[in-house]
Amino acid sequence: MKAGPYAVFDIGGTFFRSALWRDGLLSNVSKRPSLNFLNTPHLSPCELQNELVTYLLNEAARLEEVFGKRIGHVGISLGAPMNAKTGEILQSGPLWGPEAKSFDLLGQLRRFAPARTYVIANDVTAALLRYVRDIDPSSNGKVLYITISTGVGSRLFDAKRGGIPTDSQHGFQGEIGHLPTQTILHGSQLSFRCDCGGKDHLNAFTSGRGILNLLREQPKFASGSETDDDLLRRFTEGVHNEDLDAIAVLDASTSPLAQILAILLTHDPIIETIVLTGGVVHKLEPSYCESLNRQFLNHGLFQVTDRDPDYLMRRLRIDTPDDSAGLVGAGHLVETLHSRRSVYVYD
Ligand SMILES: [Zn+2]
Repeated sequence: MKAGPYAVFDIGGTFFRSALWRDGLLSNVSKRPSLNFLNTPHLSPCELQNELVTYLLNEAARLEEVFGKRIGHVGISLGAPMNAKTGEILQSGPLWGPEAKSFDLLGQLRRFAPARTYVIANDVTAALLRYVRDIDPSSNGKVLYITISTGVGSRLFDAKRGGIPTDSQHGFQGEIGHLPTQTILHGSQLSFRCDCGGKDHLNAFTSGRGILNLLREQPKFASGSETDDDLLRRFTEGVHNEDLDAIAVLDASTSPLAQILAILLTHDPIIETIVLTGGVVHKLEPSYCESLNRQFLNHGLFQVTDRDPDYLMRRLRIDTPDDSAGLVGAGHLVETLHSRRSVYVYD
């Protein structure tokens, strides 16, 4: 279902993007630096939230002017955990800082511009909707989409249901980055805090920041690296040169994710495709998938992986989205809402 135009937005910690989405294509793309607590420190979290509402309303009005007609539907991809049932933003560290309270963005937009309909989803959800747009529902089971960058998140698409089901009460799905896990490096079990404050969450080992945690424990990398960028650059070079110490750190980083995949695939064997994306994966491929597979085989699926060592590799895909992917995801999101095919219909 195409048509439109719709106003679409990609709201991230670094940039706000907007565009018109019509017949499956973007036009009038616009981008500006995000209004966040780091670059606009004189505003409180509450004022920053109100500024986001103002930006969205003003941009939607500007896009209407460009198009020359009223735009009735708006799709928003937003980089924050949220209740998919209500559209409530539960927290957004990168945008509004650690002190921010939850925010009813959907309610505010409806209050100030009630003539339009809005659909808001987490950016991983929007990215997955973009990825699966060409999938034939009759020939696919479930698609697990995992993003590994500053943090780790995932979403599971159920082709039979045509959507991304969420918990009926909390509207959540796929926040694997905050599952407790563990890893071992050179015989020692390591322990780190997650950005959320939790102990030994997947993020603390597997995200970009998690890899930095591991590298800081290794004198070979930590000594002589003045900045985090230096540390990551030396590690990335090491991985590509098959340096054994760099590969050991990579394995310690992928092992907790492999452990979670083994549990997921044990319970849900119709996950037929596992898509990996995000800066960590893109910088380290093809070594990333090889390491993940090695760790998956170490953990093993009972009576499966010893007979079928390619079980995971057959399912792995890499997605390399460009800068406009968030807007395209928002476009698919609003189309999905408009055609009433999805679980993402708020009411
Ligand atoms: Zn956490």
